[in-house]
Amino acid sequence: AIDPALGATRTTCPYCGVGCGVLATPDNNGGAAIAGDPEHPANFGRLCSKGSALGETLGLEDRLLYPMIRCSKGTMERIAWSDALDHVAHRFAHIVKRDGPGAVAFYLSGQLLTEDYYVANKLMKGFIGSANVDTNSRLCMASSVAGHRRAFGADTVPGCYEDLDAADLLVLVGSNAAWCHPVLFQRMLANKQARGARMVVIDPRRTDTAGDADLFLGLKPGTDTALFSGLLVALADSGALDSDYIAHHTSGFDEALARAKSIAGSVGATALATGLSEQEVADFFQMFKSSPRVVTLYSQGVNQSAQGTDKVNAIINCHLATGRIGKPGASPFSLTGQPNAMGGREVGGLANQLAAHMAFTPPDIDRVRRFWKAPRIATHEGLKAVQMFEAIAKGEIKALWVMGTNPAVSLPDADAARAALKKLELFVVSENVLSNDTVNAGVHVLLPAQAWGEKSGTVTNSERRISRQRAFLRAPGETKPDWWIVGEVAKRLGFGPAFDFKSAAEVFREHAALSAFENGGGRDFDIGALTSLSDEEFDELTPVMWPIRAGDSAPQQRFFANGGFFANDHRARFIAPEIPALRSETTAGRPLRLNTGRIRDQWHTMTRSGTSPRLGQHLPEPFVEIHPDDAIRYGVDDDSFARVTTDYGQCTLKVAVSERQQRGMLFAPIHWSEATASTARVGALVAPITDPFSGQPENKATPASIVPY
Ligand code: SF4
Repeated sequence: AIDPALGATRTTCPYCGVGCGVLATPDNNGGAAIAGDPEHPANFGRLCSKGSALGETLGLEDRLLYPMIRCSKGTMERIAWSDALDHVAHRFAHIVKRDGPGAVAFYLSGQLLTEDYYVANKLMKGFIGSANVDTNSRLCMASSVAGHRRAFGADTVPGCYEDLDAADLLVLVGSNAAWCHPVLFQRMLANKQARGARMVVIDPRRTDTAGDADLFLGLKPGTDTALFSGLLVALADSGALDSDYIAHHTSGFDEALARAKSIAGSVGATALATGLSEQEVADFFQMFKSSPRVVTLYSQGVNQSAQGTDKVNAIINCHLATGRIGKPGASPFSLTGQPNAMGGREVGGLANQLAAHMAFTPPDIDRVRRFWKAPRIATHEGLKAVQMFEAIAKGEIKALWVMGTNPAVSLPDADAARAALKKLELFVVSENVLSNDTVNAGVHVLLPAQAWGEKSGTVTNSERRISRQRAFLRAPGETKPDWWIVGEVAKRLGFGPAFDFKSAAEVFREHAALSAFENGGGRDFDIGALTSLSDEEFDELTPVMWPIRAGDSAPQQRFFANGGFFANDHRARFIAPEIPALRSETTAGRPLRLNTGRIRDQWHTMTRSGTSPRLGQHLPEPFVEIHPDDAIRYGVDDDSFARVTTDYGQCTLKVAVSERQQRGMLFAPIHWSEATASTARVGALVAPITDPFSGQPENKATPASIVPY
């Protein structure tokens, strides 16, 4: 864990899903020097601007250092840990007894460590008996999870980062990887440079990523399914299918092809549906057909959609149809946004999953019930994020515990989410900071959690690689690990024996043992080989991919090159997607569509990255990007202020006139909040429209208007 030669602690970056290894050398004054870990296989020593500025974000300004409770005068007052925990447990128990387990909920975060996630999920699903435990990862990659499960029978990422080095064609769909997964993007560029790999970027917005593309396809929003349906038809028409693979390892191909033909049966029809030229479409199809080694990477532009799951499956269909899956340099590849979105998926942090990738099916429920000795285990799926906050607004959920996330900024229709929080009978937040928009929405109990650099456990990155996050700073004040906080409440609820964890290592061993329980049940997620790690071995754990089953000498790097899917018949499913259509309409009053996303140097709601002066220099203030023709049409000038309005809210933003934007589209970054800039809480503008399979909201196409301010 500590490299004696360097005096540095090996840990992992807390920002994006690339999961870069970091060397942190404390300065014994509360700070640390930060460098990339040359031995970590995610980054081999490289860090992006956010990772390299981590040392600037370690101060204690605005930190929450001890528990606080809202007293009768309405102010927040300091309280002892034992009293805070007693209060939370007592109030949860009272509400569950009075209104049933469905009246309480946890809302978690892809920033939590796997051990935190595991204990929270175990308490809510296993012992309180409700599956109302969801996570901000629902806003990030839930459509990929649903797409994987529909196609593969499990939430399995088939490829690995080495595929990006080996691919001859890299197709990025709805991904600004140059800004959002920078170290991985550099790896792709290195492949371009060293091996001549080609890159296609598919995005309504001409991002920095598009600047390095051999072919940029600026398609109309919401038409990805049409493009990949057209590709499936073109592959079939030109004899580019892998008929053996389709026959031996899949089902549903004919239906999917028939649907694809009805969506985009030719190059011309695809061009018409997507707004691309026939030449652009034909060039892309030819590049895909002629490159046996293709990796298609997709991110929020695909996932954050009311048809996100169908888009994921339309992409996977093309890889299955050509056998381009699980082979070196050939795979569909979901880029996860957050550092531990994958770890959350592994422990059942989503309301529609059980732990260890198990589902709410009778055999899986029974298996987890027996393992946890949890007779009251939840027996059906809980409410997904957007539904959860709607249930809070309706008074159906009365107690909520938010851990490490800021839903009053990040949820769609964030004003409604914030108003819902104010209705709660019990509103608990575990946080690093004293104040943010969620805390300021009427929290009743504030619990101080350890932050990055202080806490210890594991995270899993986009390629299924589990890495250690290690503490290298003394935990300040009375801050505690999240797994400890949840465990202490569980003990006070009367579930002591099941939550008697002394360390993150103990939690991890139980998580590993559950994954391998009854021989892993034939599932994809099985880390049985890590079940008996000693505390020392856990501390020294080097980055390792899953699965690594008991007895395995090495992890399995890829899946499905020779079939072996996780459905009962071991076949993959081709999915016939719905006809692509945005679920909202533009009108005379809302003639534009608002796309939201990230900028290069900020992270989420800026509670950490916003403290770095260096990161603040890149794009220092909230803005809205608009095409020059639209700027003229709507009378807004570059660098002036404008008001952007949707049916859900409005923001005042600086105008950035740019050819990167399509006509008819606006782009605004998600990071600012009332805590950082009072007029730019962009989540308040986003429609709470969700995908029917994944529950993921459509953050990319809300009807909007713009006027000069
Ligand atoms: Fe951190 Fe992601 Fe940058 Fe790597 S690429 S340093 S994980 S933000």
